[in-house]
Amino acid sequence: MAANTKRALVVEDEANIAELITLYLEKDGFDVRTASDGLEGLKAVDDFNPTIILLDIMLPKMDGVSLLKRLREERIMTPVIFLTAKGEQYDKVSGLDLGADDYVTKPFQPKELVARIHAVLRRAEGSVPAKERKLDFDKLTINMDTYELIINGQKVDAPPKEMELLFHLAASPNRVFTRNQLLDEVWGFDYFGDSRTVDVHIKRLREKLEGVSNSWAVKTVWGVGYKFETTG
Ligand code: CA
Repeated sequence: MAANTKRALVVEDEANIAELITLYLEKDGFDVRTASDGLEGLKAVDDFNPTIILLDIMLPKMDGVSLLKRLREERIMTPVIFLTAKGEQYDKVSGLDLGADDYVTKPFQPKELVARIHAVLRRAEGSVPAKERKLDFDKLTINMDTYELIINGQKVDAPPKEMELLFHLAASPNRVFTRNQLLDEVWGFDYFGDSRTVDVHIKRLREKLEGVSNSWAVKTVWGVGYKFETTG
């Protein structure tokens, strides 16, 4: 095994799904290990030291949400993608709150899962480089070096927190962030505001951005949070 081989841990009690994921990830060059219940998964995190964890939610012995919680409590920050079944809305929300990096709803296209894994790993490796402090979209430029927001070629005044919030969302297009994640990641863990702070800033951003382009938008994901949606 080459030192830079990526290791994926698949914690999934449905053998056929675990096999399918294994097949695709091995084809993609991953070293894959599977675990069929939560406790086995927890142990495998120690033994195998995975680069990424694909975590089913409904699992024997320890469910996926508890497993993720346990990892984060132990400061194990390995990226996690939840494999959720349709209708597990509650788990999806609490999963993102707990620090899951993404989720995929079953049944899924293996190709989509592989694409999500790569997206999560790129983020985790910080390959949106710290230097890349300027994002360009159709009729929109967010420049965090100069703190300039350019809409339709015009510089628009926006307070720093609005800029930071927009940059944070737009740096991971189509990723859904919960309000709590945005509070933690944009305002910081020691901020004593509540989630309405996020809503207020989103509202002000929307007033500036609405109708500017058809190829992107700040969207509400009901019951979850917000995302910067791009099309095409
Ligand atoms: Ca299951």
